[in-house]
Amino acid sequence: MSDCAPVGTCLNTSLPSSTATSNSANVSLSDVSPQDKPWDKHRSFADAVEGLYRGSEFNSYSTRIHFCSELLHFGLVDDDGNALKLKLRSARFCRVRHCPVCQWRRSLMWKAKAYKILPKIIEQYPKHRWLFLTLTQKNVPITEVRSTLTDMNRGFQRMSQLKVFPAVGWLRSTEVTRGTDGHAHPHFHCLLMVPPGYFAGQNYIKQSGWVEMWRKSMRLDYNPVLDVQAVKQGGTPMELIPELLKYCTKESDLVHSREWFLELTRQMNKMRSISTGGVLKEHLKELENEPEDLIGKDDEAKIQDEIALYFGWKRKDQKYLMIDQ
Ligand SMILES: [Zn+2]
Repeated sequence: MSDCAPVGTCLNTSLPSSTATSNSANVSLSDVSPQDKPWDKHRSFADAVEGLYRGSEFNSYSTRIHFCSELLHFGLVDDDGNALKLKLRSARFCRVRHCPVCQWRRSLMWKAKAYKILPKIIEQYPKHRWLFLTLTQKNVPITEVRSTLTDMNRGFQRMSQLKVFPAVGWLRSTEVTRGTDGHAHPHFHCLLMVPPGYFAGQNYIKQSGWVEMWRKSMRLDYNPVLDVQAVKQGGTPMELIPELLKYCTKESDLVHSREWFLELTRQMNKMRSISTGGVLKEHLKELENEPEDLIGKDDEAKIQDEIALYFGWKRKDQKYLMIDQ
């Protein structure tokens, strides 16, 4: 999955000879490192989002996004003698919530953290089981997203406090997509950890039971659409991380309609997209906050003596191209 390109990505081609010369204007990042191709796509969406904000009440976001990740500094790292890989060393990020580059980087950082922390949780609770629950309600006009998410937060809280609620810990993310009719579809993705005897015991809840519990907790007068899946015994919840920690709103929905997008920005202002609870809160609460590091700093690779490569965003070409030093 290209969106999940790891923080350090392998080069699968040798560097073109032109990199050593002054004639590097046409060497693109995606040619040098195909696994860094997502940069072009996300920065390209960022150009579109920048355009949507321009001249609006969010004009300052437009300016910030304009300068976001314009210049990427990579180090060429020897990956244990196996291959050379590009490792991002520095870039300036705008941190505007709906900036496509920043939300991609945020998602990568959250995933990296989750991949690191989850094995420790599994080690601590080896016999516990995992459920993946998607909670929805009817689509709403984009102007009602904020109040709907507030209701859903309250509904989830009520549900989690029920005696019959089986999870002892959870991680929950919010997603808002755009329906074909232009309405918004706010929903929650939840990873739930349940006790070892859950599937055989009295506390087991069928799909219809979940619908009933969510309907009552949300005080709805209809049965909401809901999906619940179990991670099979011996399986790990790791495979659910990409779905759980993806973007709050996918890029194609962001740029579909200017009015919709500007309203989404108003509606989502300061709304939290990830929350944690129960016994997992202590382990995962770090994910509730905006990651400070969007680069993916680590100390595995030596920084001294490595070759530095710079790529600049070329709007006209919609590509990152190598820059001479
Ligand atoms: Zn940005």
